[in-house]
Amino acid sequence: MTDDTARHRFLSVAENRNIQGPYLIICARPGVSKRLADTFLMRLYCKKGGCGDCADCRKVTDGHVDIMRLSAPKVAEFREAISFIAEKAYEGGYKAVVIENADDMTDAAANSMLKSLEQPPKDTVIILQARSASGVLPTVASRCAAVYLAPEKNAVRAIADTLKADDTAAHILSDLSGGYVDEAALLYQDTGFWDARSAVLEICQKLLSQKSMAISAYADCLEANKDRLLPLLSVMQSYYRDIHVYMKTNNKNLIINRDQTDSITNAALHFTSGAISNMISAILKAERRFFFPVNFRLAVEKMFFDMLEEKNRWKK
Ligand SMILES: [Zn+2]
Repeated sequence: MTDDTARHRFLSVAENRNIQGPYLIICARPGVSKRLADTFLMRLYCKKGGCGDCADCRKVTDGHVDIMRLSAPKVAEFREAISFIAEKAYEGGYKAVVIENADDMTDAAANSMLKSLEQPPKDTVIILQARSASGVLPTVASRCAAVYLAPEKNAVRAIADTLKADDTAAHILSDLSGGYVDEAALLYQDTGFWDARSAVLEICQKLLSQKSMAISAYADCLEANKDRLLPLLSVMQSYYRDIHVYMKTNNKNLIINRDQTDSITNAALHFTSGAISNMISAILKAERRFFFPVNFRLAVEKMFFDMLEEKNRWKK
């Protein structure tokens, strides 16, 4: 299964209450997998077919007694999941276990899952999420129905046509969504997103230009946009990647964040490529951290500190 077919077939499983064993969502963008799994669960739990608005739907994202979420679980955590699904659903419906970052599991943990994957109790759904198929143990993958999500081939065009977005917005959305039109649509329709993007881009510039840093104010900004964290981290990566690409090519046409062209070309003159690429790595590292239960504030501040450290370590 690929693309939209995969997505729709997977969601129709929830609509028809026709669960056939565990599912493995494979997508390079963890945020996209997570959203698809949430949509699936809303369709399963909601009495109105996944309206996204009712108490049942909200519980899917905010915490549901019958849904357990794990990220790259260790053997002991997985044992907890087994006893969790062995009990009856509190609310009388389905039990669900969602395993994010299945490609980061140890072999021991993955092997401890096999029996549950083969014979999950009745009315139980197990959803695994992985960035790539190759990272998942074949014995695990072979027991799951795979849902491959591949980005649209002509994403910029498809996004511009579908959303009636202008060229600049389509380029930006294509980059941030990883080329997934549905994901791009969610960002495009999120009225607060563009303001949040501007605020975050301003922080990106300040991180480069200022000597004394208002890290706590930067963290405030991300905290106020907690539910858009992943796309905003992508905005940051995208901005620094533009600087990096421009450094190497001197080609303005390759800049994705075209509304930032001046600041991008200017930054390219003043920093080393080592500084910029290590700042990007610091963001990526933070992104991975947010898939585990972390202290949000500490994790965000650490990311900004790491970025500054990299910037200063690689001074021109
Ligand atoms: Zn609902």
